[in-house]
Amino acid sequence: MTLPDGSQKQTPAGTTIGDFVKTAIGPGLAKAAVLAKIDGPSGQMQEVDLARALDHDTKLEILTSKQPEALETIRHDAAHIVADAVQRLFPGTQVTIGPSIENGFYYDFDRGTPFSEAELAQIEELANKIVAEDLPFKRTEVSIDDAIKLFEGKGEKFKVEIIHDIVAKGATTLTLYSHGEWVDFCLGPHGPSTGKVGVIKLLSSSAAYWRGDSKNKTLQRIYGTAFFDKKGLDAWQKQREEAEKRDHRRLGKDLDLFHFHPFSPGAAFWTPKGTAIYTQLSAYMRALALGNGYVEIKTPLLYNKGLWEISGHWGKYKENMFLVEDSEAKAAGDEDPHHYSLKPMNCPSHHLYYGFKKQSYRDLPMRLHTQDVLHRNEAAGALGGLTRVRQFAQDDAHIYCREDQISEEVAKFVKLLDRVYNAFGLQYTAKFATRPEKRIGDDAMWDRAETALKTALDSLDLAYEAKPGDGAFYGPKIDFDVSDSIGRKWQLGTVQLDYAAPERFDLTYVGEDGKDHRPVVLHRAIYGSFERFIAILIEHFAGAFPVWLAPIQVAVVTVTDRVNEHAKTVVDRLAAAGVRVSFDDGNGMMKAKIRDASLQKIPYTIVLGDKEVASDQVSIRTFGGGDQQKLETLPFAAFVERLAAESKFP
Ligand SMILES: [Zn+2]
Ligand SMILES: [Zn+2]
Repeated sequence: MTLPDGSQKQTPAGTTIGDFVKTAIGPGLAKAAVLAKIDGPSGQMQEVDLARALDHDTKLEILTSKQPEALETIRHDAAHIVADAVQRLFPGTQVTIGPSIENGFYYDFDRGTPFSEAELAQIEELANKIVAEDLPFKRTEVSIDDAIKLFEGKGEKFKVEIIHDIVAKGATTLTLYSHGEWVDFCLGPHGPSTGKVGVIKLLSSSAAYWRGDSKNKTLQRIYGTAFFDKKGLDAWQKQREEAEKRDHRRLGKDLDLFHFHPFSPGAAFWTPKGTAIYTQLSAYMRALALGNGYVEIKTPLLYNKGLWEISGHWGKYKENMFLVEDSEAKAAGDEDPHHYSLKPMNCPSHHLYYGFKKQSYRDLPMRLHTQDVLHRNEAAGALGGLTRVRQFAQDDAHIYCREDQISEEVAKFVKLLDRVYNAFGLQYTAKFATRPEKRIGDDAMWDRAETALKTALDSLDLAYEAKPGDGAFYGPKIDFDVSDSIGRKWQLGTVQLDYAAPERFDLTYVGEDGKDHRPVVLHRAIYGSFERFIAILIEHFAGAFPVWLAPIQVAVVTVTDRVNEHAKTVVDRLAAAGVRVSFDDGNGMMKAKIRDASLQKIPYTIVLGDKEVASDQVSIRTFGGGDQQKLETLPFAAFVERLAAESKFP
């Protein structure tokens, strides 16, 4: 056995992995182990049970609760356990399939009525009892005939149907997994025993079609999750509750930021407050771009298919584009007059722009920034909130440069990205994706491109994860994942090298030698799309934006109606100073108005009474300062100064 540290150990053929780990490595790891990986038939590492007997020389890796694969395995274990519990409680219920999914598992059952809440509670209780019984999972190989006999005997029609399918695909034996009396057939792997599954939690139940096809029989699906211990489950539940509270669709409504209408699916209507956030983000990015050697341009939204034929979108991306009819072509009898399309991305229009003039080496790097509206025809079923939309804008830019400038340009870009993510308190990690199997260009080109990116990364002292084979077909790239305030990860920024586009668009520059050369293109974005970035920020800040980004920065509240007229002048003076301010002069109680400003998560609430009016002062409450906070009283001018300082772009 070759272990991950490269050391080798010998064991007689037939030893189970579990026993080998116990004697050759140690009882600590043997106890913590959930499953293992060994050399598979295709040369790739394959997940196997600890009870598997070793019968060939192999690399051996032991997975414990620390590895994500182990959690996935116990969730599939949990699916078996839940199916066992259902059949113990409701004999005659037929089982179908029960895979692990992101964050848990499901199992589909055939029975006439949906599972009630009370039944789910009963099943969950019994499932956790089966966990406590600590029954070992046993794997056996059986012939197809024996498997069919077994499941026919149990009246499991769906299982028999699946077996026939597998036979049709050429299988000659099947693997069964049992714990206690209960048996299922599946490919595995499973953990050592039901006890490894620390705790099972059932989440919901819903109808589902057999094989996902609405023509088939309706089944009853149970969703659940499992963790190694209660601590893990509690932490997950807490994060889930927190995420629900922060859900941008919910906060978007509560804070009145945006709407959607079925007449324009996947395209947001931004309220004045939502628009304020959008334009602040846009202005911030514009200021950063212009301050860092970019120029901003605007390009058309609608293009003839000729452009998309050059870019390759017409062949590969047409179904994602909104096509537009050419009325003259239609009148002339053209059978398919959809000669135009709304742009799904800015790149091709920037390439056209680059080609308007003969460029020289002195013009490079040329950095073009654009925040135009883009359209992509996402499936209606995939649309949801601001994270999946059909209309959006990006903080997009393309950098045209010489090959020897790539490294410096990438380093500059990453520094800019670092500044932006830090400004929002977003932690991030980088992924460096290199040449995929299907690619253009020769190895020498890829060597140069990858070295340039790596040099940039190394010069930044930035930790990154290598992703061999994950690059685009036209060049390597670096992707950036951010973690928000509750630890969720989002992929946002990217910088991609592109050697293909300059060829397709025949882009050139005149070099120092007076000859034409090909530039390289870097595609880059920091926010990604404004829409998705705003969704992430709403959830990251839980709607409580920093002063510079807050849609309303100051709420004005009066102690008595007597000072309402004065309050109006305060509002006007603040607005004139560029402050986003609101004033509720309705009949409500002062306390209720203060509470309302707090619910709207407005950073400052100023309270005006006779004293403040007489001295042109304001008493301020800060959001998050609590009900008992002592109000700070300061001259109006000093407050405006403070706001101006806090409203500066970070
Ligand atoms: Zn299984
Ligand atoms: Zn691009």
